[in-house]
Amino acid sequence: MIKNNKIFDLKSLDYFILAPTKPPIYQQLFSPLFSEKGLEVTVKRLDLLHPDAQGNKFYKLHYNLKAAKDLGLRKVLTFGGAYSNHIHATSFVAAANGLESIGVIRGELIVPLNPTLKDAQNQGMLLHPMNRTDYRQKDSPLILEQLKGMFGDFYLIPEGGTNAMAIKGTKEILTDQDLNMDFVTTPIGTGGTFAGLLGSATAKQQVIGFSALKGDFIFSEIDDLLQKHEIIPKCTYNIQTAYHFGGYAKHKPTLIKFMQELKKEANLPLDPVYTGKMLFGLFDLIQKDYFPHGSKILVLHTGGLQGVRGFEQRLGIQL
Ligand SMILES: *Cc1c(COP(=O)(O)O)cnc(C)c1O
Repeated sequence: MIKNNKIFDLKSLDYFILAPTKPPIYQQLFSPLFSEKGLEVTVKRLDLLHPDAQGNKFYKLHYNLKAAKDLGLRKVLTFGGAYSNHIHATSFVAAANGLESIGVIRGELIVPLNPTLKDAQNQGMLLHPMNRTDYRQKDSPLILEQLKGMFGDFYLIPEGGTNAMAIKGTKEILTDQDLNMDFVTTPIGTGGTFAGLLGSATAKQQVIGFSALKGDFIFSEIDDLLQKHEIIPKCTYNIQTAYHFGGYAKHKPTLIKFMQELKKEANLPLDPVYTGKMLFGLFDLIQKDYFPHGSKILVLHTGGLQGVRGFEQRLGIQL
């Protein structure tokens, strides 16, 4: 491998420099419920950092793309479902950095492509469908060898994007501006974002993660991540597992109605897989007096809005 940064346009790295060029937008939410309970609720709109590479994916990809460049690799390869925010963001961030991208998609490619995959393809991502049996073993040496045979050398980003470089990035989500917050909330998928927050939140803060998946496996998953990445949280933390609405990407009318209301009343667009469920859970916890009077709560809007189009298309619902 050649270490040769010169062949890449280093200016494009500016794309990744967030704070000086694009200060994050904070949006305070108002509700009679918050006043009644004496709470201040602020949303950090990571979804507005970039129109296409939204939210936490921005942070998760940052050091991965940098690592690919530093290694002199010209291609990144990653995995995801047909509506994956991670696939979508990777295609944009790779293109913006002059890297080729390959998206290995679980199952068949259905044409016409859905909006997520269409965007990815328009960014130059090569979409490679993989049957579900192989996909389950996608991290095995055999499958990786096959992919290397097909595509040559590439920088591998795991499904969902969680690895050491991703966590290095998600540790940067919280900044000095957030130090006065008592609680920080995030959705949890693979846990890379949650783990990064636990690595950076202060001893005075509590981080609450709302699992988008059904099941208690997430507790050991997070323990494993913390151990693997040597994160010893200074903050306290809590994982909520009661707001999955039937499981990953599943939904119920109460969730949809709640999201529609929040968009209308508070001008806060949400996605049904992650942020909608987190906000629903947050309102529920507030109702149940989880938070002491006077608390300041920071809600991380982790993005995912690109997925809303496909969701609306499939279900004929307007969010
Ligand atoms: C990917 C994603 C998550 C989950 O992030 P993890 O680091 O995998 O836990 C949360 N919210 C949105 C909008 C996402 O796209």
